[in-house]
Amino acid sequence: MRKINEIFYSLQGEGYHTGTPAVFVRFSGCNLKCSFCDTQHEEGTLMTDDEIIAEVSKYPAATVILTGGEPSLWIDDALVDRLHEAGKYVCIETNGTRPLPASIDWVTCSPKQGARLAITRMDEVKVVYEGQDISIYERLSAEHFFLQPCSCYNTALTVDCVMRHPKWRLSLQTHKLIDIR
Ligand code: SF4
Repeated sequence: MRKINEIFYSLQGEGYHTGTPAVFVRFSGCNLKCSFCDTQHEEGTLMTDDEIIAEVSKYPAATVILTGGEPSLWIDDALVDRLHEAGKYVCIETNGTRPLPASIDWVTCSPKQGARLAITRMDEVKVVYEGQDISIYERLSAEHFFLQPCSCYNTALTVDCVMRHPKWRLSLQTHKLIDIR
């Protein structure tokens, strides 16, 4: 059984896959407590893999995004295999502090200040900008680097930082801008 906060269908609002229709599987709970955390993820219902696959399969999109909270607390190879068997492209949004199944198709790592990374393979790095030194993340092996304002209140500072560090691209929470989930 895996503790699920919600499963819903929307567009990916952030990062490389912005605009892509996707089924979001939000797992419950996190091992960190970030001050800017904007998700209500603590509540949850225990679901079997059959129930998860049945719910995900209600929607036409191929992309499934495992998110949270911190999804690595609840996932393993067996779940990723089941999603692949259902024809899904499996993405994860993780804080990177815990190991992941190797078979995940796309890893979005959002490293948090002071939290040690436990993964080395990642496709994109997405950092919420709080004025911190972002050069420490440039050593990570990702292909894409996104800097995102903190709940849109420091957008101008984030734009300025990206222009000074052109390895990075701006990521906006576009789902909030157009008022979708
Ligand atoms: S790692 Fe993500 S889900 Fe966990 S507390 Fe921080 S922002 Fe929230």
